[in-house]
Amino acid sequence: MIDARELRKEYGNFVAVEGSTFSVDRGEVFGVIGPNGAGKTTTLKMLAGLLEPTDGEATVAGFDASDPEMRKQLGFLPEESPLYEEMTPISYLQFFADLYEVPGDVAEERMLDTLEKLDLEHHDRKLGDMSKGMKRKVAIARSLINDPDVLIYDEPASGLDPLTTNYVIEFTEQLAEEGKTIVFSAHNLFHVESICDRVAIMNDGQIVARGDLEELQDQYGERRYRVYTT
Ligand code: ATP
Repeated sequence: MIDARELRKEYGNFVAVEGSTFSVDRGEVFGVIGPNGAGKTTTLKMLAGLLEPTDGEATVAGFDASDPEMRKQLGFLPEESPLYEEMTPISYLQFFADLYEVPGDVAEERMLDTLEKLDLEHHDRKLGDMSKGMKRKVAIARSLINDPDVLIYDEPASGLDPLTTNYVIEFTEQLAEEGKTIVFSAHNLFHVESICDRVAIMNDGQIVARGDLEELQDQYGERRYRVYTT
């Protein structure tokens, strides 16, 4: 469902990502973990077609990542979602439903269903008056408005309290059970171990290990593995 081949991104003379190659099967949850500056966001944005690779290529759902058609199959959750403070969750989601040309009755049912699943009762509250956790849930609802097959979530749990973090992780787990293909980045192993089928560990712009968690522990040993993930 996702295929990244030798992705490379340079910012001037600085190489942010180099030789990033991995694939994600339909219905799989793939974790990209690593410390600050490892190149996770850059990699995810290249997959989502938001950054043009300097070299290499990515396909998502059979489309080149730069193909606008690909966007219709994709729900991207950026690390920091720009939310319009004066909007309510419904007006915000309606705005994106219109952008994706989701028919009115389908959009309404999808919005209400997703907001209910996310436990967001305050439909009439302005986004600017919401907590960080509530805003993150609205951003997650936005990523689902076009009912995409593929979700790319950049550190969806970062900066949230433990309860909301668990909530976001469990919700992502449900989406995986519904058959979505998910790429999920995190600093912390704790955020990915319960839901990821496989992970890639990034450091200094490169994938330094990949596989399922047990394989990585065998391959790299518990100590080194933890260095990258805590
Ligand atoms: P974090 O966990 O802090 O979000 P990350 O793993 O997502 O980190 P990236 O945001 O992909 O890392 O950044 C990788 C490297 O590229 C960092 O050193 C960052 O400073 C650099 N970088 C990212 N965007 C730019 C840019 N627009 N111009 C120059 N350098 C950039």
